[in-house]
Amino acid sequence: MSIRWGLSVADWHDHAIDDHHDHPSGVFTARCGHSLMMVTPLRDKSCGTQCEACAVAVAVDTGEPR
Ligand SMILES: [Zn+2]
Repeated sequence: MSIRWGLSVADWHDHAIDDHHDHPSGVFTARCGHSLMMVTPLRDKSCGTQCEACAVAVAVDTGEPR
C-alpha cells in the first residue's frame, strides 16, 4: 500500500491519497473524503500541515503511533 500526500488549495492541508485507489476522473479522493484536483502534485512524504482525519487514517493503516 502506498500513501501519498497532496496539498489542497481549498484548506492548505496535506491530504492522504491512496495510490491504487479507484479515483473518479479528474479528482483524487483523500482518505477523509476530501477531493483534490488531479493536477495536485503528490509527494511521498507530507511536508506541511496534515489533515487531521487523513493523518489518523494513515496512522491506523501503518500502525505507527502518533
Ligand atoms: Zn484529509
